[in-house]
Amino acid sequence: MVKTANIVGAGIGGLTAAIALAQRGISVRVFEQAAEMVEVGAGLQLSPNAMKVFCALGLDEALHAVSFAPEHAVIKDGSTGRAYVKIPLKDGAKEAYGGSYLHVHRSDLHRILQKEAARLGVASHLNTPVHSYDENGFLDLSRADISIAADGIRSSHALQMNIMQSPKFTGQVAWRGAVPADHLPRNLISPDATVWTGVGKHLVTYFVRGGALVNFVAVEERTNWTDPSWTQPGDAEALRASFEGWHPTVTTLLDVAHEVNIWALYDKPVLDRWSDGSVALLGDSCHPTLPFVAQGAAMAIEDAYVLAVCLDGVDDVPRALERYEMLRKPRTAMLQARARRNADMFHYRGPAGGLVSRAKLHIARMLPTKLVMKPFNSIYSYNATEAIN
Ligand SMILES: Cc1cc2nc3c(=O)[nH]c(=O)nc-3n(C[C@H](O)[C@H](O)[C@H](O)COP(=O)(O)OP(=O)(O)OC[C@H]3O[C@@H](n4cnc5c(N)ncnc54)[C@H](O)[C@@H]3O)c2cc1C
Repeated sequence: MVKTANIVGAGIGGLTAAIALAQRGISVRVFEQAAEMVEVGAGLQLSPNAMKVFCALGLDEALHAVSFAPEHAVIKDGSTGRAYVKIPLKDGAKEAYGGSYLHVHRSDLHRILQKEAARLGVASHLNTPVHSYDENGFLDLSRADISIAADGIRSSHALQMNIMQSPKFTGQVAWRGAVPADHLPRNLISPDATVWTGVGKHLVTYFVRGGALVNFVAVEERTNWTDPSWTQPGDAEALRASFEGWHPTVTTLLDVAHEVNIWALYDKPVLDRWSDGSVALLGDSCHPTLPFVAQGAAMAIEDAYVLAVCLDGVDDVPRALERYEMLRKPRTAMLQARARRNADMFHYRGPAGGLVSRAKLHIARMLPTKLVMKPFNSIYSYNATEAIN
């Protein structure tokens, strides 16, 4: 029976898995390369499917206390501010999808996960990179019944397991930042998750930390990217210049943004192989999802729960991992494809400043809300905690 687990990576996926396994009486050790457990200072949208997992893990109350519940998801034209699509999220999400929709600061979520993992006795080893496993499936540092690589898109364990290419630059960069809400005119930012669309770029705005901070993610197309670090402090002036002439809400927000990070977006297909003996991959290591559907972390969170249930009380670990992969692969592949398609919807392209893209959004504007909400059913209504019973 699985009694011990090693996890590489204390990101959202690794820590969620640590909690789900520890709650099943499994002794867990987490190895994290960073010297400190910190998440890049930016927001995260936690959709109902992710919240159902956190509910099952008993973390929903703690999350509600530090989050912001948006009223709607809105798609707006970046220059005129005209709303094309408006989907109810606050009351609507619970009713339609069976769970809350929350916006959380990554560091707040990370703190909650760390605290719960520590409470459950998970041992965390910081400043401890782990790069490979041996023929027995043991990490190069430590033995356990199961080893889980939740080490992100550049996973060395995934590389060892799969003959695959390195992640590819998508031609897009994301600027991320958060500004105190009281540095902005009152009511400037609506209490929604708003996507501002434009030619070759878009910007997402939403509140986090109970409304104290406004988070933004601005995605811009770039023909090349030479920085190998792929996340670095960004130039706030360059960001402002890039969105010059956009709607006053956008420019006023960016005017008070002094600290931004710039992050190159890389893509990698869902891997063919998610496990090797008693080593399993999880989250971005096996199926990174571009941010255009806000589901990458949600998929890692779902993986973590499903994997813990598959391993609960079993003797045959490779068989349990096969089951895990079978349960998770189709869904993560579907989401990965959706995210890629959304990039086209948010960025106007082609003749006359994306006449066709705009026309499509105008059509969406005329559709009944229920019809617009329909494509989200398969994403948000899913309940990973029931999918395996
Ligand atoms: C701009 C942007 C916005 C996004 N917005 C959303 C959103 O709103 N909602 C959502 O659901 N998703 C979102 N995502 C996706 C989400 O951030 C990722 O999918 C998620 O963080 C993946 O979690 P993970 O735990 O699998 O990997 P990671 O978060 O990458 O964590 C991997 C961890 O492993 C550690 N590590 C790596 N290698 C080693 C090693 N060799 N040894 C030890 N430790 C190691 C790393 O230091 C890190 O702590 C967004 C992504 C981007 C880029």
